[in-house]
Amino acid sequence: MARDFSGVKRVVVKVGTSSLTNRNSRLEPLKVRKVVREVMDLRRSGKEVLLVTSGAIGAGVGKMEMKGRPKELSLLQAAAAVGQGILMRVYERYFGRYGQPIAQLLLTKEDFTHPERSRNLKNTLKVLLRWGVVPVVNENDSVAVEEIKFGDNDLLSAHLAILSRADLLILLSDVNGLYTGDPKREKGVKLLHEVREFTPQLERLGGRRGFGGMRTKLQAAKLACSAGIPVVVARAGERRVRGGC
Ligand code: GLU
Repeated sequence: MARDFSGVKRVVVKVGTSSLTNRNSRLEPLKVRKVVREVMDLRRSGKEVLLVTSGAIGAGVGKMEMKGRPKELSLLQAAAAVGQGILMRVYERYFGRYGQPIAQLLLTKEDFTHPERSRNLKNTLKVLLRWGVVPVVNENDSVAVEEIKFGDNDLLSAHLAILSRADLLILLSDVNGLYTGDPKREKGVKLLHEVREFTPQLERLGGRRGFGGMRTKLQAAKLACSAGIPVVVARAGERRVRGGC
């Protein structure tokens, strides 16, 4: 069931690595362009948008001409450090075509839990949004590895939605929505069109490791929903999005 989000004023949109990179794990600028178009659609309908984006590792993998995404954490962190500036340049280029100013924020979990840091973050965001800027957020991968290990910024985006008092969290992915299993590996998994409560069955799914990124999406959804923020999991480019809680 598609839900009406026309009353929404502030949205956090999260886009993951798989929606931004190609088969060789390299950043695909045309995919970034698509994300920018979607964000600008929201902006044009009068919404404030905060964008949480991966893709730094992919940009670094391309720049350093690696054969693919490395496995070792320190290599991933270094690739992200190389790629973050490149990623922002690509965003600058496409947002610039709409005359849309953007800002870079590199955050870790502590920035949401530490009182002074979260207060500072809130103040910065307040001004950026008042200026009509789109904050472009990523995990600060050189000092934190939480989202590299699991999550790809899902939880970070839920924390940001809560801190910024967003009305909606959209998790863009390369799957159609929230499934009962990994749609790429398992047969007979069902697409959950709407989740109104976190049932024991869903909790069990949330406890499962690595099923197409659904685990951290569920955790992020639970976190945001507990703060009263509805969450949508949708394929990047999907017009009819599905909502929950
Ligand atoms: N922060 C990472 C990046 O920008 C995303 C995490 C991951 O790809 O695992 O590439």
